[in-house]
Amino acid sequence: MTDTIRKVVIVGGGSAGWMAAAALSKYLSKSDASITLIESEQIGTVGVGEATIPQIAKFNQVLGIDENTFVRETSGTFKLGIEFADWGGIGDRYFHPFGTHGFDLEGLSFHHFWQRQSATGDTTSLDDYALNARAAYAGKFISPQPEHGPIINKLAYAYHFDATRYASFLRKFSEQRNVERVEGIVASVHRNESNGFISSVTLENGQNIAGDLFIDCTGFRGLLIDKALGVGYQDWSHWLPCDRAVAVGCERTGAAEPYTRSTARTAGWQWRIPLQHRTGNGYVYCSRFLSAEEAEATLLSHLDGAPISKPNHLRFTTGHRHKFWEKNCIAIGLSAGFLEPLESTSLHLIQSGISKLIALFPDASIADIERDEYNRLMTDDFTHIRDFLILHYKQTKRDDSPFWNYVRTMDIPASLEHKLSLLSSRGRFFKYDAELFDVTSWIAVYVGQGGELNGYNPIANGLTDSNVQRSLANMLTAMDKAVTAMPTHEAYIDRFCQAAPVKATQKATT
Ligand code: FAD
Repeated sequence: MTDTIRKVVIVGGGSAGWMAAAALSKYLSKSDASITLIESEQIGTVGVGEATIPQIAKFNQVLGIDENTFVRETSGTFKLGIEFADWGGIGDRYFHPFGTHGFDLEGLSFHHFWQRQSATGDTTSLDDYALNARAAYAGKFISPQPEHGPIINKLAYAYHFDATRYASFLRKFSEQRNVERVEGIVASVHRNESNGFISSVTLENGQNIAGDLFIDCTGFRGLLIDKALGVGYQDWSHWLPCDRAVAVGCERTGAAEPYTRSTARTAGWQWRIPLQHRTGNGYVYCSRFLSAEEAEATLLSHLDGAPISKPNHLRFTTGHRHKFWEKNCIAIGLSAGFLEPLESTSLHLIQSGISKLIALFPDASIADIERDEYNRLMTDDFTHIRDFLILHYKQTKRDDSPFWNYVRTMDIPASLEHKLSLLSSRGRFFKYDAELFDVTSWIAVYVGQGGELNGYNPIANGLTDSNVQRSLANMLTAMDKAVTAMPTHEAYIDRFCQAAPVKATQKATT
């Protein structure tokens, strides 16, 4: 029999490190394995990463985290989707909702009936049929409970939260479950000569920490996976050329909207994330087409309220490590790779990495099959999300700057080319394997940015005109009623999960 893992060492205490620590402290609670997390206050965390997708609720559920406590402690708000402004063309606007557009009919996806109805001259938009978009624009929110009925129960949602508070929240959770936290800077990494496994790390103060399994959560540095193990990087900046961001928090000027806003700019896009105590903002841009000074000036001139911190400039290269798991080291978080935050997928990729690690948890010998399967699955996750992000840049009419001319005319991966051919052939859509984004997301972005569906599935002709019209009208009425019945987002937060006031001087990140 081979040895079990007795000591897990996590290096890094950003969102990735503490999410990994929290999950492993739960799953390994009945084993002999100990968990140590090393982090350095001096180095700090990236301090951004505040918008999520609905899958994160599952992470909280598995850990047994109460939603209202979580939102209160992280100064969070609720998120019903993303509004995209100026993406397809300047002045355009559409909503990428969580949940669905309308409801499927006759076993066919809703958009086929919407397309059929649009062909008659009806201008009701896809957004009009999205319960999430309607609630978002009305500033409404409720956490659905069975007694709210079948329509409100379709409201899918995620959270916005303060990244620094999120890491502290998970730290508290983990330390209560016996995760040992060590403060210090890792100065060197030692490897076993016989098999190349990492055997220990030594801190600047000389302390040596040995382990059987190492989780690299050191952010963009990739201290273990890259600096020590040299796995290399798959660079995707040809398709996703944005490589910089500048972020700043500002004062809130009105009620916190229950959605993220993404506004396309000359050489990238700006995010706006409403939290309880401030609004997070950032400009993700391409340094080939815009200087840091110009990006900062554009960002500062498009804030709702006064900035409450110094702008934070960040650099990145879109892509991922050639191997996420090498020897006895697994990279999770920014050390594993980075896809720009256009669809808030990074924290999800952390969650996905953790759940795959748990499903493939090795013994001390680390079988090749576990490692290889992990690497295959994570590569697929990154690749599917990459294609969806590229869609946002490729599907545009914008020709007002060199950046937009580049992304509009660039070549795209064959996998995306195939998806676009199907979409433009009567709105056909198929997910690849366990692909994250489904038909609602692809249709929302593709149609929202001016893509043509060129017809619909002929089976949708099986219903009479009056049947289709009645069904669609009923959907709109039912959604109206549901939205009217919901409390405002602000009233919901005030009642169930209002955060304690924070000092204005608190470090403001986005
Ligand atoms: P970090 O936060 O960088 O943490 C690294 C940790 O490693 C720190 O604790 C550091 O002290 C430690 N460390 C490093 N070197 C050493 C050493 N030598 N010794 C000891 N400790 C060390 N994600 C989303 O899901 N939604 C978003 O809206 C979103 N927006 C983003 C916007 C931008 C501009 C960027 C760049 C990222 C965004 N992300 C977003 C991604 C998200 O921020 C990260 O996925 C998340 O914060 C996890 O970061 P991390 O823990 O991997 O790295």
